[in-house]
Amino acid sequence: MPRIAYVNGRYVPHAKAAVHIEDRGYQFADGVYEVVPVHKGILVDEELHLDRLERSLRELRIAMPASREAIKLISQKMMRRNGLTNGFLYMQVTRGVAPRDHKFPTGAQPALVMTVRQMRPAPREKLEKGISVITVPDLRWARRDIKSVSLLPNCLAKQQAHEAGAVEAWMVAPDGHVTEGTSTNAWIVTQDNKLVTRAATYDILNGITRIALLQRVAEAGVTFEERPFTVEEALKAREAFITSSTNYVMPVTSIDGKPVGNGHPGLLTMRLREAYIAHVEGRVPAETHAA
Ligand code: PMP
Repeated sequence: MPRIAYVNGRYVPHAKAAVHIEDRGYQFADGVYEVVPVHKGILVDEELHLDRLERSLRELRIAMPASREAIKLISQKMMRRNGLTNGFLYMQVTRGVAPRDHKFPTGAQPALVMTVRQMRPAPREKLEKGISVITVPDLRWARRDIKSVSLLPNCLAKQQAHEAGAVEAWMVAPDGHVTEGTSTNAWIVTQDNKLVTRAATYDILNGITRIALLQRVAEAGVTFEERPFTVEEALKAREAFITSSTNYVMPVTSIDGKPVGNGHPGLLTMRLREAYIAHVEGRVPAETHAA
């Protein structure tokens, strides 16, 4: 089946899909994106992702490129045309094409691009071993709650992790507290079995996986605290993990080369992974309102 991309109203072969050189996304990273997981042809938590897309756009004063209903229709068409069953849908909206000038252009149409990618579930070995993370200074701007395409500090940190033989980098604020991973939210389980993740302020992206998991956690009666934690606290924790639309819940078993807990994926982590997978598979009712 040929790979098809959606570019501003047209469905085009992926290899030929292109945007204009004066698209403000290209010149200024003036745009936002969403990654929506797809499970058995169903968009997981689609409403929450669209809520976040609308919010990111509103914060940057970019108009929605199409109605929410139209975006949903295009998403469905993209999945059908690409035969997507499991993987994710990527959508990106920029302020549009205009002669290069920092000020907002008048009359530019926001540009919408969508692609999909088929993806296999995480290999069993990765789940059994857990992943390694390194810690790096958080070099990003002060509005990390906006899902901006401006991801250069994230790319630099992910590359650093890769070169260190790790899978993810946890970014650390000047005060020593972990903000989040380069493309994931960060969580720990303390020695007294409290689940801890940073509160959703301007400091982090409020992950949709994070929102859905917190909902399940509250329903299951697991004690949790939304507060910052330091690298030292994470190293003393019983368990650690990351969440994202492509990783679901992924155990972290080493931080900066030191083991977390007993060095194996934690029990609560794996229970939460199961709970999240049940949510993805629709075995528990999905909550559809954003925090
Ligand atoms: N933090 C950052 C910086 C991210 O880029 C992502 C993934 N886009 C996340 C957290 C996780 O968000 P989600 O659960 O919506 O994939």
